[in-house]
Amino acid sequence: MIVDRTNTIIKENKIHAKKMFGQNFLKDKNVLLDIIKASNLSKDDCVIEIGPGLGALTELLCLNSGKVLCYEIDDNLAKELPNRLKKYDNYVIYNQDFLKCDIKKDIESYFGYDKRIKVVANIPYNITTPIIFKLLEINNITHMTLMVQKELAYRFSSDEGNKEHGSITAYLKYLGMTNIYRIVDRSCFEPVPNVDSAVFTFERNDKNINNDFLDFLRIVFAQKRKNLFNNLKGIYGLEKDAILNILSKKEIETSVRAEQLNSDELYDLFFSIKALTPKKLKAYAKVNLILNVLGKFDNGYHNLEMLNTKIDLYDEIEIKVYDIDRVEMDKDICEEKDNLVFKAIKMLKEHYDVKNNYLVKIKKNIPNGAGLAGGSSDAATVIKAILKNENIKYDINELYELTKVLGADIPFCLQDRKCIVRGIGEKIIPIKNDKEYQMILAFAPLSFETKRIFAEFDKIDSKRNNKPKINEFEDVIKNYEMFNNDLEKVCIKLHPEYKLNEIKMISMSYGAKASQMTGSGSSCYALFELQDENIEKCLTELKSKISGYSFSTYKTISY
Ligand code: SAM
Repeated sequence: MIVDRTNTIIKENKIHAKKMFGQNFLKDKNVLLDIIKASNLSKDDCVIEIGPGLGALTELLCLNSGKVLCYEIDDNLAKELPNRLKKYDNYVIYNQDFLKCDIKKDIESYFGYDKRIKVVANIPYNITTPIIFKLLEINNITHMTLMVQKELAYRFSSDEGNKEHGSITAYLKYLGMTNIYRIVDRSCFEPVPNVDSAVFTFERNDKNINNDFLDFLRIVFAQKRKNLFNNLKGIYGLEKDAILNILSKKEIETSVRAEQLNSDELYDLFFSIKALTPKKLKAYAKVNLILNVLGKFDNGYHNLEMLNTKIDLYDEIEIKVYDIDRVEMDKDICEEKDNLVFKAIKMLKEHYDVKNNYLVKIKKNIPNGAGLAGGSSDAATVIKAILKNENIKYDINELYELTKVLGADIPFCLQDRKCIVRGIGEKIIPIKNDKEYQMILAFAPLSFETKRIFAEFDKIDSKRNNKPKINEFEDVIKNYEMFNNDLEKVCIKLHPEYKLNEIKMISMSYGAKASQMTGSGSSCYALFELQDENIEKCLTELKSKISGYSFSTYKTISY
C-alpha cells in the first residue's frame, strides 16, 4: 500500500514538502483505516478528495467507493499520482486549486446530476475554513470526513457554554451534526507538523445555507467579551427597546453571551430579529416578447403561448412582520382589499402555514395598465418573500396553480429568467440558454383594459388553431419573424389613435430585431442586441417624432 511507502516515495522522488500548500503526508496506516471507517463508504459512493498528495488516502478511496474526484494544486504531485494508482480506473485528478474550481460543474460532469456526495480528505490546514464554507454551498454533499488541526476540530464540534463555541460552530450545527472521530498525533505525518490533528466528521441535514444567519452569528460572536444584548444593539436598525422586548419574550437574560446559547436558540433569536427588520425587494416588470392566442378553454380563459422576459424596471417593495396584514402604496391605484398583493397574502394563509402578519409598502415605478405585469410582479415578490421568511417548503407547480387565478402573470413573475409560458399562464418552461438584450419601451398615454381587449379579440378572430408555435428559445432568436402579439390588431381597432405602427416603423428602420406590443398593451418594445449602438439614435428619433409618448431604455435580466 502507498501509505507503507510514504517515506520511501518522498526519498526516491526527492519530494520537498511545500509549506505553502500545507503538505504533511500521512504515513500511519491505522489512521488511514480510521478515516475510511469514519466515512462509512460503500461501492455506491461518490467521493471528493481535496489534496491527494502522494495518493495514500486516494488508494483506499478507490478501493472502498464508487468514483473519486481529486483536486491537487501541486503540479508535480498531480503528474506523478497516476503512476502510483495504475491499478484503479475509478478516479480523476484535477490539477487545480480547489478554492478556485467550479465545484458544481465538476460534480455534474463527473458524477452526474443530483448524486449524493461524500468528501473525505486530509486537507491543507491553512485553508480549512474556506474549504469547509465552499463545501457547505453544495447541498448534495451529505457527509465530510476531514483531517483538520486538533484545535479547530474542538472548535467545530464544541457545545454551547464552552469557550471554543463560536460563529462557525453554531453555523455548522445549524447545517448538520459535527463529531470528532479521533485525535491524530503529529508523529503520524511526514514531515512532522508542529500541531496535532483530529479526524472530524460532519453529517449534513437538509437545510440550505443561510448567509443572513451566518452574518448574524458573526455579529453576535464578534466581540466575545460583550454580552449578546450589547452585540445586538445598533444592528439591523433596531431600537434598544425592540431588542429588549424580543429577549424578554424568549426569557433570555440581557447578560447572556452568544456562546451560552445553542444553535437552535441562536437561530430562533435571529429569526425573530430578522422578522422585525424591513426587507427591501425589487419587483421587476415583465415584457411579452411574443404573445400568441391559441384558443379558449371551456372555463372562458384563453389558451396562450408567450415568450416572456423581465427587464430592469421595478417596483420597490418593503416588507416586514406586523400586527395585521396591510398593503400600502405610494399611488392611489385601488382599494387595499382589491390589491393583488393583499389577495396573494390571503391566498397564502389559506393554503400554507403562515404564522405572521405582514406590512407591505410599495413604491410604484411600473406604470399600471401598460402590459408590464406590475401588480403580478409585486404579488409574486411578496409571495416568495413570505414563503422564505416563514421557512415554508412548497411545490412550485402547486404554487403556479394557486396563483394563476389571482393573476395570469404571477406564475411567470415567480421565476427569475426568461420563460416560455403556456396555458392561462401556469405552464412555465424556463429558458436554459439565456441571452440578454436591450430594449426601448414606449409608454403610451393610454390604458387598455385586458378583459375588453380579449372580448373584442374573440369577436374578430375565430380562426385560431391550438398548435403551439414556439419550440425552443434558440429557434426563436434565430428567427425574429416569430415575434408577434395577436392582440395588437384589436388594440389598434379600439384605439385608432394608438401609435404602435409608427413606433414599429421607426424602430425597425434603426435595426431593431423586433418591435411589438407587450401583453394587452399599451406599452410596446423595440428589441436590440446588447452591443447595438443604434438604440440611442432610435431613441432620439422616437422622442422627436412621436409626441405624447415617453420612451426609456432597459435591459432584459435573469437573476
Ligand atoms: N492526502 C495526502 C495525505 O494524506 O498524505 C496529502 C495531504 S496534505 C495535508 C495536503 C494536500 O493538499 C497536499 O497534497 C497539497 O499539495 C494539497 N493542496 C494544498 N492546497 C490545495 C488547494 N488549494 N487545492 C487543492 N489541493 C491543495
